[in-house]
Amino acid sequence: MEYEPVIGLEVHAQLLTRSKIFCGCSTQFGEDPNSQTCPVCTGQPGSLPVVNRKVVEFAIKLGLATSCRIAPFSLFARKNYFYPDLPKGYQISQYEHPLAEEGHIEIMNRGEKRRIELIRIHMEEDAGKLKHGETPDSASFSYVDFNRTGVPLVEIVSGPDIRSPEEAGDYLRKLRAILQYLEICTGNMEEGSFRCDANVSIRPRGQKELGTRAEVKNMNSFRHVEKALEYEIKRQIAVLEDGEKVVQETRLWDAERGITVSMRGKEEAHDYRYFPDPDLVPLRIDEAWIEEIRKGLPELPDEKKARFVREYGIPEYDAEILTSSKALANYYEECVRLFSEPKTISNWIMGDLLRELKRDEREIDQCPVTPQHLTEMLSMIKEGTISGKIAKDVFEEMYRTGEQPARIVKVKGWTQILDHSEIEKAIEKVVQANPKLVEEYRQGKEKLFGFFVGEVMKETRGKANPKLLNEMLKEKLKG
Ligand SMILES: [Zn+2]
Repeated sequence: MEYEPVIGLEVHAQLLTRSKIFCGCSTQFGEDPNSQTCPVCTGQPGSLPVVNRKVVEFAIKLGLATSCRIAPFSLFARKNYFYPDLPKGYQISQYEHPLAEEGHIEIMNRGEKRRIELIRIHMEEDAGKLKHGETPDSASFSYVDFNRTGVPLVEIVSGPDIRSPEEAGDYLRKLRAILQYLEICTGNMEEGSFRCDANVSIRPRGQKELGTRAEVKNMNSFRHVEKALEYEIKRQIAVLEDGEKVVQETRLWDAERGITVSMRGKEEAHDYRYFPDPDLVPLRIDEAWIEEIRKGLPELPDEKKARFVREYGIPEYDAEILTSSKALANYYEECVRLFSEPKTISNWIMGDLLRELKRDEREIDQCPVTPQHLTEMLSMIKEGTISGKIAKDVFEEMYRTGEQPARIVKVKGWTQILDHSEIEKAIEKVVQANPKLVEEYRQGKEKLFGFFVGEVMKETRGKANPKLLNEMLKEKLKG
């Protein structure tokens, strides 16, 4: 039987405010444990939370950028559960009346546009962090750091619209790009500023009704999300094929072993005993504020993409990749400003540049090749100083050393040979060395031309100008 995976994602994104969501404590990452706490975020009796206006503004921004309806009235609710990293014994979140609902995000999958619905976006506070196994007394103690308690988050819940691990990756990358374009979240998965849980189920292809789902947690990179989903889908298919049933539960991704393992039975909403938080007033958002925020929105990925296609005449496929991060889009535009061949630039970025970055797991802002250097090199190809073939080596060298292309070419002696007499000399040598083949060529075996080009190139150590070489060789072989 053929099965279809059904995936919904819940993303927690940390908002880049300077202070926490319900108190004035700093949100700075990496400070001494418990140095950024107060009676409010550690849940002391008698303390009262006050909502941070900036958090609401950022959440509205995201809602508008993803075409959500912003609720004029929303409520904070208590989500009750016990865990040692949660000092109040409940988390302030939103439940029945979230801030934003019914949005969507568009992704491109293999050239096809797909729309992923967003069910809701709500605000909530983060919990603290438990430290196990990091100190000599770890066998008998765990420590808790409350610096993260009360750090503002938005939770973004997608509909069960995602159909493959690959599509999940596309969705996450697009959502992260939107957050980064808005400058409201770093999107750093390793630091936990962008976290993702997945609801996964499978059903026989063609069946409407959804299968039983498992929730997968603990995936801290895009690659791991895709791997974990692949594993989980295979696991569920195997369970059904064995004639058994998928159990509703929460499973943890074990990156080292490459498997998901059962953690606990999945809680239902009623396990959390949600109720409106009596310490916080309802949130009423007027239309004027929403409009003001809407006007201040920056150019978003989809708009930028459309503009790139329109202004630079590059294919939609190129534009989609180039706008996948704000930093990459800026890099591209800086190059276009310096060298007016947008498609040539796009080819080099999407080919050599992104391949090198991916191999080194680097982001564009850590790229050793600056837009100045890349475009200088393109000018050198255009002027005939170096061949396109040599440029590949120049690029590699620029990437490795961060050197200027002109300097690399000079030091390595990679300048292209434009001197007729020098090419003539090489052609002469090759012709002399292969009298029989020259004869065969002249009698009509034209396929041999490529062989002669190769030989002359070898003779000039790859530096002959290809156009010139071709012309001169043809002339010579005519006899
Ligand atoms: Zn505090």
